[in-house]
Amino acid sequence: MDNKNIDDLKKFLDQSGLRLGFGPQQQTQQEEDGEDESRQRRDQALQFDFRPSQIKEYLDRYVIQQDDAKKVLATAVCDHYHNVQTNMRTNEDNRDYKKQNILLIGPTGVGKTYLVQNIARLIGVPFVKADATKFSETGYVGGDVEDLVRELVHQAQGDIQLAEYGIVYLDEIDKIAGARNLSGRDVSGHGVQRGMLKLMEETEVPLRSPTDIAGQMQALMEFQTKGKMEKKTISTKNILFIVSGAFDGLLEIIKKRIGSKRIGFQEGERIDEHQIYGMARSVDFIEFGFEAEFIGRLPVYVHCNQLDAEDLFKILKYSEGSLLKQYKRDFLAYGIDVFFTDEGMKAMAQAAVKEQTGARGLMTVGEKTFREYKYMLPDNPQVKEFVVEADLVEDPQAKLEKLLADPEMYRDRINGFQTVKFAEFFKQKFGIEVTVTREAVEHLKMKASKEEADAEDYLTRLFGEYEHGLNLLRNAEAADAFEITPEVIDQPSQSLDGWIRRSYKRD
Ligand code: ADP
Repeated sequence: MDNKNIDDLKKFLDQSGLRLGFGPQQQTQQEEDGEDESRQRRDQALQFDFRPSQIKEYLDRYVIQQDDAKKVLATAVCDHYHNVQTNMRTNEDNRDYKKQNILLIGPTGVGKTYLVQNIARLIGVPFVKADATKFSETGYVGGDVEDLVRELVHQAQGDIQLAEYGIVYLDEIDKIAGARNLSGRDVSGHGVQRGMLKLMEETEVPLRSPTDIAGQMQALMEFQTKGKMEKKTISTKNILFIVSGAFDGLLEIIKKRIGSKRIGFQEGERIDEHQIYGMARSVDFIEFGFEAEFIGRLPVYVHCNQLDAEDLFKILKYSEGSLLKQYKRDFLAYGIDVFFTDEGMKAMAQAAVKEQTGARGLMTVGEKTFREYKYMLPDNPQVKEFVVEADLVEDPQAKLEKLLADPEMYRDRINGFQTVKFAEFFKQKFGIEVTVTREAVEHLKMKASKEEADAEDYLTRLFGEYEHGLNLLRNAEAADAFEITPEVIDQPSQSLDGWIRRSYKRD
């Protein structure tokens, strides 16, 4: 290749966002920092010392319901990473160990992906997800299953070693099961199953896809200039594979099998679906259309339940990943505070159930409900807050018109909410029971906004300086609540003194 060609190629690669390794490479400070960071991530991932119950506890913060799936996943993940660790420590493989690849069964939008995503985040390994229907027998309709493994490297910011401990998640796996489920698309489940089987068994995946011409050229030139090849394959030995799908029809297959064999399974006996899925065996999946070898590589299966309106309400109210946090942030960017009442959240949950897409229905409902608010309110700065109640969810437009006509319509209610909110905050932050007056809320918000501060931060700063006084109050036995009034906010020091004198005089 002459210089002109190399220059052209360099230009092409630059334009396509790829970096070219010409000449001996000077490592920049940034690259060194990057390497440190990825080493840290790797170390953290490999110092895996979780117990299943700890993983479940973490999942409980984000995922509502799905207790069986949480337990089964947490246990399988612990087994998997403990085995990886032992192999590394002893420097030899436990040949008898059977990798805990997992099959998740359940309808759409019930948290299957979300569970796995959260696990990957907790333990600090890269995570990649794709739909099985994207792949075809020959590979290149949408991609090649090996791309999933290469994508792990990308997610691990180029750290191949970290990628080798990642999690690959393949959804819609039921759609590639045998002829009975063929959708008529150019998808042959057979080939994809075989491709996945190879990955799950243990193989070395080339770092660069054979179809990635630019990547191949880059590799060639790195070789020419550096005179050595770096590690160019990714081992799938320690990658955890999780597949999932709705598996319509599987329930009937299991029922048919246990129906004839199960002792005590009487005519008309009611067993819930979750229990029946719990009885799934490899033979059921083979009957469903999977190859025995493929199912043999997925020793762990568990079913996730459909979510009802109550569950969706809990997701909004309690999940740390609640969509409502995002809405709050979106509106706050325009200086607008949004409050959600329980009734408002319940109305959203009920509307979402009708969508029949699990928790995804919440996004649809949220989008429909707030679409006009998001568009109109930024142009109406006189609106500083609003409350989401059931009637707003039922008729968002009517409520929006009212709000625009009377921007302060919620002021009094919101101050009412906030008296409770600030009192709870004070208790949590400083360990002292207080009541907060409505006037104090107004005053606090006014003072905070003058300093462009969040009201809670302002409150923290205001009292944070009086650690000693607060300690005395925490130790005092006086049980009745102190009252935060506008005067207390203006003169925190004197007010705390007064409170202290009051509580100790009583002793
Ligand atoms: P699927 O079961 O189809 O994999 P996902 O896990 O992708 O569904 O769910 C979509 C989104 O819905 C998640 O990102 C999460 O925000 C929310 N979600 C779904 N199920 C739950 C749940 N059980 N608890 C909390 N949030 C959930």
